Amino acid sequence: MFEIDETLVHGLVELSQNASPAEIARAINSEHTTLEEFAALISPNITPELLKKLAQRSYELTRRRFGRAISLYVPLYYDNRCVNGCIYCGFNVHNKIPRKKLTFEEIVHEAEFLRSKNFKNLLLVAGEHPESSDAGFLTDVIKKMHEIGFSCLSIEIAPLATEDYAKLVSEAHLDGLYVYQETFNKELYSMVHPSGRKRDYSWRLGTPERGAEAGISKIGVGFLLGLNDFREDALYLACNIGYLQKNYWKSEYSISYPRIRNAAGVNSAFRNVGDRDFLQLVCAYRLLFPEIAMSVSTREYPEYRDKIIPLAFTSVSAGSSTAPGGYCNKNKDLEQFEVEDSRSVEEVTEALRKNGFDPVWKDWE
Ligand code: SF4
Repeated sequence: MFEIDETLVHGLVELSQNASPAEIARAINSEHTTLEEFAALISPNITPELLKKLAQRSYELTRRRFGRAISLYVPLYYDNRCVNGCIYCGFNVHNKIPRKKLTFEEIVHEAEFLRSKNFKNLLLVAGEHPESSDAGFLTDVIKKMHEIGFSCLSIEIAPLATEDYAKLVSEAHLDGLYVYQETFNKELYSMVHPSGRKRDYSWRLGTPERGAEAGISKIGVGFLLGLNDFREDALYLACNIGYLQKNYWKSEYSISYPRIRNAAGVNSAFRNVGDRDFLQLVCAYRLLFPEIAMSVSTREYPEYRDKIIPLAFTSVSAGSSTAPGGYCNKNKDLEQFEVEDSRSVEEVTEALRKNGFDPVWKDWE
């Protein structure tokens, strides 16, 4: 199993803090980016001119590999109950918000609405609750989603055991798994996860491997931007992806970049990652992993999304609701967080076309 190497990462963080403009420039021009060069690319010492060059290089690599196609996906939240106490999340068990688990029929209703909007790539999302992550229940739901016409089905729910993932793959053709470590810093991890199953750092860290062992073909990883020093987490994640690609090469990996957002009942005392740092980070990952898919969600505001999508991204969500049942019944009280890009699917696809991109409804194959 992947084990974090604190000594290695602390050394790389120091390297990043001290990188000179000349070292950053060399890293931008490197043909095969190393971890040390990646540390230089995310350095706070980057100048505006070098950031421009980094963005240009990232743009070229992305479009050379992925062309002008951007795939669209949509999340379907089916349960906002959660047994965990994550202090940054609106669904946490102590937060007195209305709770709802959609019935099977309600899930179907939401899914049919999303299918009518053309989506073929669906992400099922739920808080961590034994009922919402029951493998038998999920098998039935995923099978039904395929029947409705979705061609790519992924989950972002409680981490499961290998045998449960294997059942979802063999019986229901589960395509994708998304799991974010939130932060790789162990001390901070236990502070922000004071209660619930999620306190188990190793169980969460081993999730992508269990998914890959079970044969899930697409695995999305990331961390929550705004919890920890993003450079430290970025370096841990880079090591984690390198390990997964080497040891579980049959699965494809992607990176998502969730930034902390406001949510009802949550104290927003976190220091978020600014737009400039976000852009630098995304472009640096593109140089390190030229072949990897990258997603950006509606957590980002419209003008910013339109600006950064061409530089590194391959898939975007659109028209999203983070409330169970939120597509057919607008109910903001049930939301996990407020989306920043509230444009309709039609508006997002129109903006993509205006920028010269082809919105595609299926995921990368
Ligand atoms: S982040 Fe996930 S596990 Fe934590 S409280 Fe929110 S929904 Fe539950």
